Amino acid sequence: MNRKIFVTGATSGIGLECARAFAQDGDNVLIAGRRADRLAAIKEDFEQQYGIRVDTLVLDVSKREDVDAKVKPAIEAFGGIDVLVNNAGLAQGLDPFQDSTVEDAVTMINTNVLGLLYVTKAVLPFMIDKNEGHIVNMGSTAGIYAYPGGAVYCATKAAVKMLADGIRMDTIATDIKVTTIQPGIVETPFSEVRFHGDAERAASVYAGIDAVQPQDVADVVLYVTNQPKRMQITDVTIMANQQA
Ligand code: NDP
Repeated sequence: MNRKIFVTGATSGIGLECARAFAQDGDNVLIAGRRADRLAAIKEDFEQQYGIRVDTLVLDVSKREDVDAKVKPAIEAFGGIDVLVNNAGLAQGLDPFQDSTVEDAVTMINTNVLGLLYVTKAVLPFMIDKNEGHIVNMGSTAGIYAYPGGAVYCATKAAVKMLADGIRMDTIATDIKVTTIQPGIVETPFSEVRFHGDAERAASVYAGIDAVQPQDVADVVLYVTNQPKRMQITDVTIMANQQA
């Protein structure tokens, strides 16, 4: 209630529902993504529906100069930060490693790993100054279990988990908490991005599965950030009931 929450990748899917869950709970949200039109529409919608403050930030997390130039002033204008949800990410291409492109691999590494690192580097000083805060990283079950065609994506999500654990250790003397959320298959536009816009192939991912919904993940994110100061939830794995 009345906290300051920064969500990256808030224009769609899990990030959008995380921002909504916090807004519904009475928190103020700073929402970021590359699509300015979507950010503006979400701001208008949330402010009307939930009566909270919404700041927007057009940000490409994979561009270090963008993050370095924009995140600090945005947080200062927002009045600080209590929770960072490092959610922006993507899978791109899902071909056997031998057939995959280096370009797709670089995009995933730059976004999922380096993007998360740049944003965290920009945000952490604010939390260290206050001696408290909470970083929630969106990992994946892909970071635990590799699957065919997912070598690079899986590697990026394993890196997300290890970055979280390392940062948690390095800030152990503070009241900063770090959590990794590791969802399995969640029904979002993610698969369409993954298959280079092939909507039909994307829909096939959810065939025969009662997929986890982005709201389900958002509820868990809200829950982990609402625990007493004395405890932290370090990891949560979320699977569809029918997911092997
Ligand atoms: P969506 O495609 O619906 O959302 C992805 C979000 O990330 C969008 O808001 C997009 O915003 C943002 N984004 C992508 N690239 C960048 C970038 N370079 N800079 C800034 N923002 C960016 O996918 P999901 O909601 O499914 O994915 C969210 C997170 O959840 C990702 O990290 C994904 O790896 C993870 N995840 C997803 C699962 C699933 O099955 N859906 C399972 C496990 C984890 P914009 O385009 O406006 O920049």
